Amino acid sequence: MPTLISSDVNGYFKRLGKVKENNRGVLGAEEKLVIIWGMTRGWSKAKTARMIGRSTSPIGRYIHRIVYRPQTVFDDLQLYSQIADRKWGCRICEEFMKTRTRIMRHILAHFLPMEIAKFATLGV
Ligand SMILES: [Zn+2]
Repeated sequence: MPTLISSDVNGYFKRLGKVKENNRGVLGAEEKLVIIWGMTRGWSKAKTARMIGRSTSPIGRYIHRIVYRPQTVFDDLQLYSQIADRKWGCRICEEFMKTRTRIMRHILAHFLPMEIAKFATLGV
């Protein structure tokens, strides 16, 4: 069964159609989502660049930002949702956690080294 994130990504690719340009200004939310998605799958920057029709430099810059300030990703993208008082769901794998901090760290661990996911400042 596809997760919510994978259906977002697939929907984006479907709409994107044939990629024409290589530089369309700042990265949009869907492009950022594909970058994160690619990171969860170990894609190279070059592969992500091909998938969204960008050069590798804005992708490298975004990854750099996430590594140094992981909470950025939660400002940019809806990667979890609150289902109940003590139930937060991960939109990448559909696992649940009891607190917002836990779900955030769980999500970061999908695409960042464990020591970053564990100790990142989250500003919750
Ligand atoms: Zn997850």
